Amino acid sequence: MKASILAVLVLLIAPLAGEGPAETAIDEPRGNWSWPLSPEPAVLRAFDPPDKPWLSGHRGVDLKATASATPVTSPEAGTVTFAGVVVDRPVITIDHGGVKSSFEPVESSLAVGTAVSKGDVIGTVLPGHCGDIPCLHWGVRRGEEYLDPLSFVRDLRPSILLPLTARGP
Ligand SMILES: [Zn+2]
Repeated sequence: MKASILAVLVLLIAPLAGEGPAETAIDEPRGNWSWPLSPEPAVLRAFDPPDKPWLSGHRGVDLKATASATPVTSPEAGTVTFAGVVVDRPVITIDHGGVKSSFEPVESSLAVGTAVSKGDVIGTVLPGHCGDIPCLHWGVRRGEEYLDPLSFVRDLRPSILLPLTARGP
């Protein structure tokens, strides 16, 4: 008797086991964001977070812009939570509801509190982050933890092997 109750419970629970949490907030990379530059930019410098918060490292990625003053677009919907100068770097931060993107050096006329959609232009690239090469520094943060921005535009999770040829109906 006990065994059959267990079996029923397992059957009831099993279909739920593979489900993730409801998509109320963006708290982990899903690889479905858009690139903040178009066309898809080259990565000039990869994400290289420091082992300790006080050490130096690279808390984001540097994306090559085709020219200075290239438009920067929001990779996902969100709200502007900061637009201004940090020390000497013009920065704009978008809160996507769980994780935040910061871009620099970017000139923006958006005010704090502005809602943006995925793909909306949020500013233009200024020179200075990669020497003579126009580039955009993009950082992604969840709380105080820095994440690899590329994991939001590419699916870097271990992939399930699928047939290479999609079979249509
Ligand atoms: Zn950088």
